[in-house]
Amino acid sequence: MFGAIEAGGTKFVCGVGTDLANLAITHLPTGSPEKTMADALNFLRERSDGKLQAIGIGSFGPIDLSPSSPTFGQITSTPKLAWQNFNFVGTVRAAFDVPIGFDTDVNAAALGEARWGAARSISDFIYLTVGTGIGGGAIVNGQLLHGLVHPEMGHIRIPHDQVRDPYRGCCPFHCDCLEGLACGPAIEERWGMPAPKLAFDHPAWPLEAHYLALGLANWVCTLSPKRIVLGGGLMQPQWLIALVRCELVQLLNGYLQSRELAENLDQYVVPAMLGHRAGIAGALVLAEQAYEEQQKRAASIR
Ligand code: ZN
Repeated sequence: MFGAIEAGGTKFVCGVGTDLANLAITHLPTGSPEKTMADALNFLRERSDGKLQAIGIGSFGPIDLSPSSPTFGQITSTPKLAWQNFNFVGTVRAAFDVPIGFDTDVNAAALGEARWGAARSISDFIYLTVGTGIGGGAIVNGQLLHGLVHPEMGHIRIPHDQVRDPYRGCCPFHCDCLEGLACGPAIEERWGMPAPKLAFDHPAWPLEAHYLALGLANWVCTLSPKRIVLGGGLMQPQWLIALVRCELVQLLNGYLQSRELAENLDQYVVPAMLGHRAGIAGALVLAEQAYEEQQKRAASIR
């Protein structure tokens, strides 16, 4: 039996179970670390009856994932001040003496889509979520890409035509990075109306598709994914994904020769399948991986 925590900026999702089909779930508002963590850990304790074998955490970030770092397991430079430098893994470990898997919320969602969703049996893909923020995770050769810290795909710099779009961007770190120009709050601030209230023929959408496709074009050229999975609240309308596909083809301009990009674009840029369950599903996979790693270590000692 595994515990799973998906820590988001506005809500926590906690789960206890053996599989995605057999997972008791609760939702908690993200308040202070003390209150939120106490409620989350209580849920895990009560639902598991002392039988938890591992816990997986997919957290908003940035987070420290380097096992040799003195601040491993902490949330680092988040704009949510109460959570800055919060020792997430240490807090969970103090309550449960079990293996703990820890990664970003988007990396967790990518794992969930890989196991149960839109990227099953795809060895190399990108998962991108577009909502109140923009984040992405990459699976490369079947493994999550971490590298130096972890990918922060929402904060790449993209061309910003200030004549077409004079909006300065809303990222507190970079103003007009991809997230600063294309996340939900940016759309609302630019057009004076929340994204879900904008009609499908509003000029907001071709601009949004253009920005997202610029991001996708950069990742297609740098990471060479075999599929791109688009999730998050803003990506619900199918016509927005269709617009993004068209923009992507125009931006790549025939340079990359691949059947996926020429004929199978509907199978190349696809909507997420797990919806709001992707993150908690991935946290469950993180728990399972942490458990398996501990089993392997124990076997090698024997
Ligand atoms: Zn940024």
